[in-house]
Amino acid sequence: MEFSASISRKYQTDILVIGSGSAGSVAAIAAAQGKFKVTLVERYGFAGGTSTQMLDTFYGFFTPSESPKKIVGGIPDWVVNELNKSGDIFLRPNTYGAGTGVNYNPEKLKEIWDRLLVNNGVELLFHSTLVSVEKTGELSVCVFFHKGVGFFTITAKRVIDASGDADYCYWAGLPYEKAGELEPAQSMTTTFRMSNVDLEAFEAAGGKKMLKTKMGEAYDSGTHPLPRKEGSSHEMCQPKCISTVAVKVVDFDPLDPEGITKAEIEGRRQSFLFEDFFRAEVPGYEYSKIIGLSHQIGVRETRRVFGEYRLTKEDCMEAKQFEDQVFLCGAPIEDHRKGADGSSETYWQYVPAGGSYGVPYRTLIPKESMNTWVVGRCFSATHDAHASCRSMAQTMSMGQAAGFAAVQSLEKDCDAKGIAIGELQSNLLGRGAILELPTQVADTSRNGWSNNLKL
Ligand SMILES: Cc1cc2nc3c(=O)[nH]c(=O)nc-3n(C[C@H](O)[C@H](O)[C@H](O)COP(=O)(O)OP(=O)(O)OC[C@H]3O[C@@H](n4cnc5c(N)ncnc54)[C@H](O)[C@@H]3O)c2cc1C
Repeated sequence: MEFSASISRKYQTDILVIGSGSAGSVAAIAAAQGKFKVTLVERYGFAGGTSTQMLDTFYGFFTPSESPKKIVGGIPDWVVNELNKSGDIFLRPNTYGAGTGVNYNPEKLKEIWDRLLVNNGVELLFHSTLVSVEKTGELSVCVFFHKGVGFFTITAKRVIDASGDADYCYWAGLPYEKAGELEPAQSMTTTFRMSNVDLEAFEAAGGKKMLKTKMGEAYDSGTHPLPRKEGSSHEMCQPKCISTVAVKVVDFDPLDPEGITKAEIEGRRQSFLFEDFFRAEVPGYEYSKIIGLSHQIGVRETRRVFGEYRLTKEDCMEAKQFEDQVFLCGAPIEDHRKGADGSSETYWQYVPAGGSYGVPYRTLIPKESMNTWVVGRCFSATHDAHASCRSMAQTMSMGQAAGFAAVQSLEKDCDAKGIAIGELQSNLLGRGAILELPTQVADTSRNGWSNNLKL
């Protein structure tokens, strides 16, 4: 693609991270621990991606069992500890099956991502979108971005694609599978927040169990044309506010401008159907209203890059361990796909015996590349494995591993495949990452953790 006539600026960096979601932000912070220049580019005006655009719960820190183990550590802990300093966090018991959730205030998290990135020396460029890639040498690329009226370029020695949609890999011509091609793609969800909820009245009327019954009744009887009969609705850090993940939008392609436009419109339409339902049917919600919709519709999967290794369902369900594992995951397969009967329910399958599997470093290296890593929801996994390994504690862990690996490859002047895996694992362990299932059970009782999150 020809942009040269309108290039307004040219930057250079050592490590370029594209996309500042949970994966990209942690990748940039990790990479900045080395002596190299790190630049993080983000299309919106704040960091965090899905973590701040629409959600408020980190899953994946703990295995979802009766005796939960904490299996993620290192830089993800820094994020949690910063939230804890200002009381913008609490641990939510395992009410929805994905394990103990780390609930946070997403608005505060935006400010914390800024601080962690800036204080660690990451050069940040917001409101800038990757639009093309040009290879300029064996191990260097020139990446084109668009901002306002013009284009600018960044020439980089190493690139970490954390765009969620694998935009960099797409433009660099690296191989990928598009969700929906082989198996139904997971649904999309506009999340919404409601204020002025009387949580005491809600609990007195039966709480989450009652809500599930009421949703099922409304769905079956058609009194409220809800898209599904279940969903997560939980309290937030902000008093009397709840956050709901219930909207279900299927059959639109989020990579297609027309598809994502229709999906956004449908997501908002469904959100207000839920508002009517909550106000009319659910005790405690009579005087509540929606105070915020997610910044954009939540997209669970689009492109999944083909890497040097592809994580499979068998790896997850056999709790497989790998020589080159760089983090752990114990989350179940949680597949929000269209149900066979069209009622769109969620499919769950758990790692046996509350265990965890290891995720190989090779899942972060795209095939046919030398100086690139892919992290976050576009990493190398099959549909089912991705449906397990996509919680934010895991996407942060991918970023952590790729950030340290990029530094190592510059220090040793080698490509992504050439780094010494033992050294990377030592670096990770030295920073607090967890690479083996601990024997110790974590204390996740809310009272024991709320004032002193010993993460
Ligand atoms: C509705 C929904 C509910 C979920 N619920 C939970 C939950 O409760 N807990 C949990 O742990 N996980 C949950 N997940 C999964 C988890 O949130 C995601 O898998 C994870 O956040 C993905 O992180 P990421 O960094 O890979 O991508 P993203 O968070 O999508 O970040 C990608 C970033 O790249 C930017 N970007 C994209 N393209 C470009 C470009 N061309 N140029 C520049 N920047 C670009 C984006 O703006 C974004 O900031 C949920 C996901 C969804 C969609």
